[in-house]
Amino acid sequence: MITGKFINGALKVEKLNVIKITKTIKTPFYIYSKKNIEQNYKNFFRTFKSVNPLICFSVKANSNLGVLKILKRLGCGADVVSGGELLKALKSGINPNKIVFSGVGKSDEEIDLAIKKRILLINVESESEANLINKISKRNKIITRIGIRLNPDISAATHRKISTGKADDKFGLTRKKLISFCDKIYKLKNLKLEAISVHIGSQILSDKPFKRILKVLEDVMADTNIFFKYVDLGGGFGIPYNSKEKKINIRNYSYLVKKFQKKFNCQIIFEPGRAIVGNTGMLISKIQYLKEGKNKIFVILDAGMNDFMRPALYDANHQIVPLIKKNSISKKNIEFVGPICESTCKFIKYKNYPKIYENDFVAILDVGAYGSTLSSNYNTRPLPTEIIVEKNKFKVVRKRQSIAELIKN
Ligand SMILES: *Cc1c(COP(=O)(O)O)cnc(C)c1O
Repeated sequence: MITGKFINGALKVEKLNVIKITKTIKTPFYIYSKKNIEQNYKNFFRTFKSVNPLICFSVKANSNLGVLKILKRLGCGADVVSGGELLKALKSGINPNKIVFSGVGKSDEEIDLAIKKRILLINVESESEANLINKISKRNKIITRIGIRLNPDISAATHRKISTGKADDKFGLTRKKLISFCDKIYKLKNLKLEAISVHIGSQILSDKPFKRILKVLEDVMADTNIFFKYVDLGGGFGIPYNSKEKKINIRNYSYLVKKFQKKFNCQIIFEPGRAIVGNTGMLISKIQYLKEGKNKIFVILDAGMNDFMRPALYDANHQIVPLIKKNSISKKNIEFVGPICESTCKFIKYKNYPKIYENDFVAILDVGAYGSTLSSNYNTRPLPTEIIVEKNKFKVVRKRQSIAELIKN
């Protein structure tokens, strides 16, 4: 579950003792393990090897250029949801022919950029968007390849704030709309409809919703008169964040995907984000103060919800461990909180936690996905440093934002 391992009581990532980094880099900072990122990508690919999928990493999970470059070297593509993400993916060296662009509200400028860069697919989420892409393509004298996103009305059995595939969610077209859209797509002369896509949500720990998608897709595809060269099955594969959550088993699903691919003779695309980077990162923080409350001790960290928002946004539970293992246990109730002036700026509660002190360092675990990308300048705090560890070395892949830059406007 965790990126690091305790060796002789000290937390290590790959071969590097994390406490060593705190001697030169100010907390809070993110660290990622290069090896873990590579392993996750390779494992994911191996699971679906028989369909030789194109894996388009969901850049919104982690858009650090250093991370993208690691994935690029493995042959990975990108799933982007903004012009900024598209430019970052290109800057990392990812081939435009491996980039898909999703999102319900693409702007004129973003569409123009995607068309000019000739990316693999723009995954369209409404008829109005298709009309606009057609218009801009015409202006550019380009035939643009598009996919169409289906809202399959499937419950992903995940946190309500990260469900995207129910009829009440804003994403994709309903089955009826999609089929009628396919019937008139020939009228849009500058578009070439080559793909159908789905993505029903995130942090899904059961394979059932995924299997259900295949069934819905089969039905819908049979109802259209289009040959879909690509079928984009999206992302959403969950990871365990605590010992109670079980790893999702996608073996059986992969067999069904193989059958599906054979039947429709299509290129399969996946868009995993969390599954590739989620468990490859930690946020290192210092205990600034300990404060006794009425019923618990507040452990006040120097990392806040602006650095790592998932607990505040999604009630996510991320384990926190001291960088140096302590053997003595305190029986008191404690709660890890951050410095931001919001009651939601808190991380996790424990009972029977190792004894900790002010100025100790801790690691918030499994923050590789939707960690740094969700960080903000709230409370006028700088964005934190990001580091990639490789064997016994580390490299800063994003410098902490300077206060000078922060106070400019
Ligand atoms: C966010 C997103 C993903 C990635 O989701 P994960 O849960 O991180 O795998 C994939 N596709 C689309 C369209 C997305 O919006």
